[in-house]
Amino acid sequence: MLVEVDGSMLEGGGQILRMAVAISAVTKIPVSIFNIRAKRRDPGLKAQHATAIRAVARLVDADVDGLALGARELLFKPKAIRGGEFRFDVGTAGSTTLVLQSLLPAAAFAPSTVRVEVKGGTDNPLAPPIDYLSNVLRPLIDMMGYRFEVNTIKRGFYPRGGGIIRSSMTPVPKLSPLRIEDQGIVKIVKGVSHSSMLPSHVAQRMAESARRVLANRGYDVDIAIEVLQPEHPKCALNPGCGIVLWAETTKGAVVGADSLGEVGKPAEVVGEEAARRLINEIEGGATIDVHAADQLVVYMALAEGESVVKVSELSMHALTCIELSKKLMRGVKFEVKEGRPTTLRCRGVGLKNEYMA
Ligand code: ATP
Repeated sequence: MLVEVDGSMLEGGGQILRMAVAISAVTKIPVSIFNIRAKRRDPGLKAQHATAIRAVARLVDADVDGLALGARELLFKPKAIRGGEFRFDVGTAGSTTLVLQSLLPAAAFAPSTVRVEVKGGTDNPLAPPIDYLSNVLRPLIDMMGYRFEVNTIKRGFYPRGGGIIRSSMTPVPKLSPLRIEDQGIVKIVKGVSHSSMLPSHVAQRMAESARRVLANRGYDVDIAIEVLQPEHPKCALNPGCGIVLWAETTKGAVVGADSLGEVGKPAEVVGEEAARRLINEIEGGATIDVHAADQLVVYMALAEGESVVKVSELSMHALTCIELSKKLMRGVKFEVKEGRPTTLRCRGVGLKNEYMA
């Protein structure tokens, strides 16, 4: 049975496409996606999306029709998921973490460990920074019983990209639900403030301004500084910087926020922006942040049992993932109780890894 997915639905961007392909890969339901990224100024597949689809297709040995830059329609027919080692190159500064976002759900249901290396950008606007993926999303997915490691071999920023990440994903028999109902008390705010090919005071100033804003609100803060110059193998090919912060609470919540440097944007503004975003999440009562929420919907939908989380706001990205999950996974149930915070409950379908009976 083929399911048709309208890529212009709700958010109408790259995420519907990535998630449709990811869910198709685990459920083995072929999908036909049309109106790809119809709500974007530059519709159709870009390098990052095409690489993400190619990557999932390799993992599940899929037949794909229409995979070309600019394409607005695509047919994806998955076969069997396999383990092994894979390498993918976005070919531009496009986000490596979004490629990993597409691969992670299928790799959870593989017969053996999946190891991937992805080349491209590690710290992109409008995408999860690599330190967010490893320090915020990874521990949350870990709570659902799914372990993966992710390492930054080399940072990559726009315009040259060239970043390299490596990830090793250990399959699970099934996913456990994510239950973080109460925020608890913030124990500490941790962070990483990093720069490549910039004077060392940039990362210091981002960290210091974030620390000041957070300390004023009474939080303990511990931000690691990473200053990379060209002689270091991890240094990016062109200048760039950013900061990722996350709060750890007494109830096990991990709430993240981040900000990326830009030419002409003072380091202090970057640090303060990340800190204010984090404060907004914490004071909004979130147990997972706005970005984690949309990225975790697919895991909650696949898990066995009821997940429950609180978010300071339910984004259009999250609503889109909810609608898509309902369309592609029969029996999944979501319940949204609006408020500040908004409570999201999901009764997952309890998908079993067929290779781990
Ligand atoms: P498009 O160009 O069509 O918007 P895209 O594929 O680049 O496509 P989205 O569809 O908007 O992007 O998906 C972006 C993903 O990145 C979402 O999962 C979102 O939660 C995540 N994301 C965006 N910004 C951040 C951020 N600052 N921190 C963490 N995650 C982020």
